[in-house]
Amino acid sequence: MGRFTGEPVSFMNSNITGGFWKQRQDLFRAVTVDALYDRFKETGRFEAMKMNWREGMPYKPHIFWESDVTKWIEGAAYFLQKKRDPELEARVDELVSYMARTQEDNGYLNAYFTVVEPEARFTRRTDHELYCAGHLIEGAIAYAEATGKKAMLEVAVKYADLIDRVFRVEHSAAFDTPGHEEIELALMKLYDYTKEERYRLLAEYFINTRGTSERDETYDFTDQEHMQSHKPVRMQNTAEGHCVRALYLYSGMADLARSTKEEKLGDICRQLFENITERRMYITGGVGSTYRGESFTFDYDLPEYTAYNETCASIALALFCRRMWLMDADSRYADCAERALYNTALSGVSLSGDEFFYENPVSVNPGRNAFNESRPDGLKEHLPILKRVKSFDCSCCPPNLLRMVGSIADYMYSVSGNIIYAHCYMEAETELMLSDGPVRLKQMTAYPYEGDVTIITETEGRYTIAARIPGWCRKYDILVNGCKAEFRLEKGYACVERDWKAGDSLQLKYSMETRLAEANPKVIDACGRAAVMYGPCVLCAEGMDHADRPLKDIRIDRGVQFEKRMEALEGISVPVFYGKAFVRRPFDGLYTEHPAEEEEIPLRLIPYFAWANRGITEMTTWFLVH
Ligand SMILES: [Zn+2]
Repeated sequence: MGRFTGEPVSFMNSNITGGFWKQRQDLFRAVTVDALYDRFKETGRFEAMKMNWREGMPYKPHIFWESDVTKWIEGAAYFLQKKRDPELEARVDELVSYMARTQEDNGYLNAYFTVVEPEARFTRRTDHELYCAGHLIEGAIAYAEATGKKAMLEVAVKYADLIDRVFRVEHSAAFDTPGHEEIELALMKLYDYTKEERYRLLAEYFINTRGTSERDETYDFTDQEHMQSHKPVRMQNTAEGHCVRALYLYSGMADLARSTKEEKLGDICRQLFENITERRMYITGGVGSTYRGESFTFDYDLPEYTAYNETCASIALALFCRRMWLMDADSRYADCAERALYNTALSGVSLSGDEFFYENPVSVNPGRNAFNESRPDGLKEHLPILKRVKSFDCSCCPPNLLRMVGSIADYMYSVSGNIIYAHCYMEAETELMLSDGPVRLKQMTAYPYEGDVTIITETEGRYTIAARIPGWCRKYDILVNGCKAEFRLEKGYACVERDWKAGDSLQLKYSMETRLAEANPKVIDACGRAAVMYGPCVLCAEGMDHADRPLKDIRIDRGVQFEKRMEALEGISVPVFYGKAFVRRPFDGLYTEHPAEEEEIPLRLIPYFAWANRGITEMTTWFLVH
């Protein structure tokens, strides 16, 4: 396809009907939606929105609290879009009524800068004011699309108009661009939804002004790189600073590039993607090599035990990938989105759906955490927690997971003219629009646990189905109605163009086996080791399955064979992989000059996303290789 010609196919066009994501969506609808509502209510986030707070009262509004609420609304709306629910809508409507009641006549709406520090309004770049506005906009669009109710959208539009006037027209704020990006991609969404050019112009203004303004002062603990303001965006070709900010910005840039068809900005987005995926991303699709600033560090710096890998950052990476494949259908983008979604993002939530990780390390050592916990506060270092919790003070990740799972079918398809691109595979029924008219498709698959995908066409006509060959797949067959299909390969997509009849089947048979993956030798933490992969999933070992033998001492043969069995883990069926490995016999003392003998042990691996669901235990994803 030509560059910039891709059109998204929204999750609204698809109904997930079975398989992996149906199970997750059912769980999230049954558990997560309400669990987050309860947590946010308990912690005063809803109360704060009423703006009754005065000094000495509980529930002092925090600068980013309302973004948690509007992200929850957005996530809830994605479920309501599939099935209306008066009780859930009543909860949202009540929250919307607080917004409508507290919004000022000029459109301003932010609890912290109304009741805590009203004099600081639009003066503190790093304080999430515009970030909250961005999430308000996204939540409002989602709720309007799901229910047809426009009250929240009216609030968001009125606020967006104020921001447009203050920032783009009058330049009357004390800074020029937001310290925490997000509003850029939200404004592009608002532009798509309303077709009002000023929202695109405002997004463009924020993107183009970033890195050029002397008024964009920052706090001591941050620097311009932390907020991607060290250079104009078109000169930024390495991913720097706070990962979530960076990836929300890059997503907004990709939206803008596609909208304006700007080659230069599109090229920069591609370079940023390559810098991340070829230099700065964990094998689990996690990003953020350090807790300090929740940020990217430098090429190949991917420490295991202190990996930050915020759940939101991987969700943001997937958002960026989806925008990239609209600009240029190249299977690398969907490969990366899957890596992020099936590993780090899902590690962010327990199999029970109500406990969450903010950080997702790739190896953990409970002994180190226990020692750290025993120390006085002043001597503690920062380590990732080992057990998911019900809520965080900074609770950005849980509602982000709700948004992700609710709208997961966003990752299935895009279209360009009469080409249907099938990116990520899920069991679903979809209706999408080609140049020649609507097409209905049904997809059946047990992905990511099995590599067979069947797409049934329900609409007659001549069009192309471009099916992504996953980057991990070494052997595949593509059949139409049971016979070998003719196809051309384009940037990782098998393009099958023919006169489709209703009921025709396109079968994609991707051979899914366990594989060993090694990191570049410059990744010093992974030297001499390999990760075991199955489809898009990274596998991990947990200490409790290995008689507490040190997991870092596990050696596997290159030719190791695994037997896969589906087993219930906390009520959810996951594949478990049994093989054999070797560890050294234990010896006394600290060092020895006599090579220790090795003994064989059974190895049990589970998908990385399922780690830490059975109690605190050692975990690793990287193994020594014989
Ligand atoms: Zn987060």
